[in-house]
Formats: sequence, C-alpha cells, structure tokens
Amino acid sequence: MKKKYGVLLSALFSALLMLGACAEKKTDEVDTEGKIHIVTTIAQIAEPLSIIGGEHVAIESLMGPGVDPHLYKATQGDIKKLEDSDMVLYSGLNLEGNLIQAFEKIGQKKPVLAISEAIPKEKLLHDENGAIDPHVWFDIELWKISLESATEELKKFAPDHADEFEANKEKYFIELNDLLDESKGKIAEIPQEKRVLVTAHDAFGYFGRAYDLDVVGLQGLSTEDEIGISDIDDTIAILLDYKIPAVFVESSINQNSIKAVVEGAGKKGLDVKLGGEIYSDAMGDAGTPEGTYIGMYRHNITTIHKALLGEGN
Ligand code: ZN
Repeated sequence: MKKKYGVLLSALFSALLMLGACAEKKTDEVDTEGKIHIVTTIAQIAEPLSIIGGEHVAIESLMGPGVDPHLYKATQGDIKKLEDSDMVLYSGLNLEGNLIQAFEKIGQKKPVLAISEAIPKEKLLHDENGAIDPHVWFDIELWKISLESATEELKKFAPDHADEFEANKEKYFIELNDLLDESKGKIAEIPQEKRVLVTAHDAFGYFGRAYDLDVVGLQGLSTEDEIGISDIDDTIAILLDYKIPAVFVESSINQNSIKAVVEGAGKKGLDVKLGGEIYSDAMGDAGTPEGTYIGMYRHNITTIHKALLGEGN
C-alpha cells in the first residue's frame, strides 16, 4: 500500500515536472513569425524598441527584472537566442562586460549594435579612474540618442517600414519629453540641501547631473567592485553632515550594505529611513507600469520625491 502510494506520487510528480517544463517553454517563446526578431540585453532597450518597431518586430531581452547586467554571463539558452535572432541591440560602454566576446562572434553574422556608443563622448561621465559611467538611460536626453541609434539600425534592416518606425519614434519621444518636464518639476520641489541621493552602487550619476542632485553610491560604477567598511563609514558621515532623511535600495542589488548604513547612522543619532526601492540597472515585471521605461522612471522620481521630502513610510 505504502509502495503503491509512492509510485503514484512519483508519477504525479513527473507529470507536474512536465507541466512545469511546458509552461516554462511557452512563456519563454517569442512568436517571431514574419517579424524582425531582435534580442536585447536590458529591458530599458527592449520595451521602447517594441513601441518604435510596432507590429514589425518581436523583441526579447536577455535580462529580466532584478538582474544585474554588470555581472551577467550568457547561458547556453542566451547563445541560442542570439543565434536565432535577426539583430542584437545592447547598451555598451562596458555595461555588459561579460557578453562582449559573444557579441563579437555573433556580429560576424548579423547586425549587433552597442546603441549607447552613439552618444558624443563629451556628454559621458567618468569615475576617478577614467572608467566610463554606463548608466546613460537615467539621462532622458542621452537615452533618446541611444534609441535614435537603434531606430536607425532598424530602418536600415527593414527600409520598407522606415517611415513607420520614424513616426512611432517621434510619437514616443514626445512622451519622453513630457516625462523629462514632469521629472524636473518634481525634483525642483525638493529643497536644494535635501537633494542627495544615497544608493548601493553608482548608477545615478547621469540622473544627478540631469536634475541637480548629489549622488553617493556605496559601490563604484560596476557592482564588481567591493564595498569596504570605509565606504559605509564615509556614507554615514555624509548622511550626518547633510541630515539626509532617506537612502534607497536598488531592485537588482543586495540590500545588506545599504541597511548597514541606516543602522550605523541610527547609532550616531540620525534617523535615516529606507526611502524605498528604486530601479537602477533592471526594470520591473513585464505587464506592470514599472516594466516600461517611462513607468520605471516615474516610479523612481515619485519614490525619491516622497522620501527626500520626508513623506516616506
Ligand atoms: Zn549599474
């Protein structure tokens, strides 16, 4: 009796496993029938391009919500996706450092473009060692240059639809211009002395430049860098100096170091709050507002606005 039960269970278990495998395959599959199949790295490229490409494109991004592009390594499945695609679009400027070799190889067979490398060099930020800051999507004007470059590549690939791509892009860029105005208005409401953005890694340099905010990242431009005790202590000192009300966690980064900062400041008598989660290198879940570039950006602006004005939880 006992044994029979076991057999039944194991049969049920393998049926469930098969079901799981089918379900997984289904959600992973992109219907590319009659469409230009584009593979991107980050969703910040994929989602706007799906609007610009409209019905003519099928787009998938290799990196989903919560995924850190600095550390990302290609899986076998990714290589297959790259090989099956018509075109590959990545951001570049050393954001996706571990994928460059794969891109060089695949670039011998099809268009592979680092869209952010179209941004004029004098507009880029660097760290103290001269490394380029790759987080250009936080400057809407710069991200428009990247998306423009992607659109041109798309037009070259499918000239028959070029007018449609151009029209879609122009319409989308109007929304981006509105987003920029809205963001400037919101940040302007925060008093200058409270405009300090403290996060886990240095992803917000362009954001800070665009809205006149000081940014402090515990970690450098890439999450590959180590966080030391001195980084945590230095950050606590800044919080105390400026009486910063809140620090922020990033959706794609471990929260421990930023929590250590909150705790350390607390021991020194400053009540610093976790201002909420903001998106740095990854966006939210597909199908939610934060799964779009505009929704992700608006979430960050709203979260920062609320927390720095002291209206946070
Ligand atoms: Zn980053």
